[in-house]
Amino acid sequence: MSRISEIFSGFRNLLFGNPAIEQMAQEREAICAICPHAGVSIYLHCNLCGCYIPAKSRSPLSKCPDGRWPSPTLKEKESGNKTRSS
Ligand code: SF4
Repeated sequence: MSRISEIFSGFRNLLFGNPAIEQMAQEREAICAICPHAGVSIYLHCNLCGCYIPAKSRSPLSKCPDGRWPSPTLKEKESGNKTRSS
């Protein structure tokens, strides 16, 4: 997945998310909340990749640039399964 696709996916899920995406985002944002690389200037962002964290955390295939998030492949599978079963 290209970076543009990841960004688009994250913003789309920010606007039109579902319970599985929100669960994943909450878990990721809890990690970001205590991460020394998280920054707040005019927006909440990651200082390593520059991404807007509320959108990045909702993009299933996005990865933490410091390896702090669980595997995106596993998370993508989990959110896909939950989405299909709900
Ligand atoms: S994406 Fe990773 S490195 Fe960036 S703020 Fe979140 S936990 Fe930290």
